[in-house]
Amino acid sequence: MIQRKTTKQIHIGDVAIGGDAPISVQSMTNTDTRDVIATVTQIKGLTEAGCELIRVAVPDMESAAAIRLIREQITIPLIADIHFDSRLAVASLEHGAQAIRINPGNLGGLDKLARVVDAAKMHQTSIRVGVNSGSIEKDLLKKFGYPSPEDTRSLIESAMTNVSALEKMGFFDIKISIKSSDTLTTIAGYRELSRRTDYPLHIGVTEAGGLIPGTVKSSVALGILLFDGIGDTFRISLTRDPVEEIRVGFELLRSLRIRERGPEMISCPTCGRTRIDLFPMAEEIEKILQTMHSNLKVAVMGCVVNGPGEAREADIGIAGGHGTGIIFKKGVVFKKLPEEELLSTFLEELKKMDAEMLELAGAG
Ligand code: SF4
Repeated sequence: MIQRKTTKQIHIGDVAIGGDAPISVQSMTNTDTRDVIATVTQIKGLTEAGCELIRVAVPDMESAAAIRLIREQITIPLIADIHFDSRLAVASLEHGAQAIRINPGNLGGLDKLARVVDAAKMHQTSIRVGVNSGSIEKDLLKKFGYPSPEDTRSLIESAMTNVSALEKMGFFDIKISIKSSDTLTTIAGYRELSRRTDYPLHIGVTEAGGLIPGTVKSSVALGILLFDGIGDTFRISLTRDPVEEIRVGFELLRSLRIRERGPEMISCPTCGRTRIDLFPMAEEIEKILQTMHSNLKVAVMGCVVNGPGEAREADIGIAGGHGTGIIFKKGVVFKKLPEEELLSTFLEELKKMDAEMLELAGAG
């Protein structure tokens, strides 16, 4: 149903972006990049959660130098994020960054940009032209005004002017982002950008907020764009542990049936009919599911009204009763148990099914 726009394909390390490559989920570390141990630890956690590309901030030379040590210890491609100082971009590339994110307009002139482009060519890495609403060139702001849902020209022109500067230097391994903290501006901007260019697009809402507002804003904007077929890679930006960004990212892709990763859990909100303590049970199950890798469908339902129906649709499910509960497996009642035994038996069966499913997938 979703017709994805075909964009040019680029590579960051071994991850393809654009063209027919899967839409990749990325994040950014919030550790001090100079602190190699903390940064590597965070990247490993993110990798375990499914993160496919990682960006690190490079505000000084020490951070650029740390890239080499970080890369030796991680398995996903690393992107260096640079503002203002072209020397940091060059140094990051020399130390092994597999791509850089710059806002070419704030690097201090074309000669400095040319040095960055030369380094990117030499190291065969790509460049993200990353424009943010908050850092658009003054002349463009004067001409078109601050970006709004009605007029995103300052964002688009900033990106396209910088892309054309790279092209004039013979550089084409480009992806583009035009981020705004406003949902409607993000949607309008990327729709227009997608009409203007075939380069792959990194989509996202910048400074989206904490877990709930950030998830909602990002899911609305990115959900609409992805449904339109726009976007080749994205970051859900949250004021949170970045692992949450990855979880939200994959749930978003799953909800649009674009990609699946790990089990899916449906659970009811509970109501006056619930006669078992469902919330802690659901929480515990959710925690365990985050460590699993099969595509199990799991249902956790509070009562027998919708419970058995939903639980039967799932690979494994619980429907609560009056101090009791029923476990369903593949649509069939497996066991009826008192509440105290329900969770432990359910988790045992869940782990067994996860292992079986992975084995089957491996055999297939
Ligand atoms: S499944 Fe049962 S307990 Fe849960 S919301 Fe529906 S009716 Fe209420």
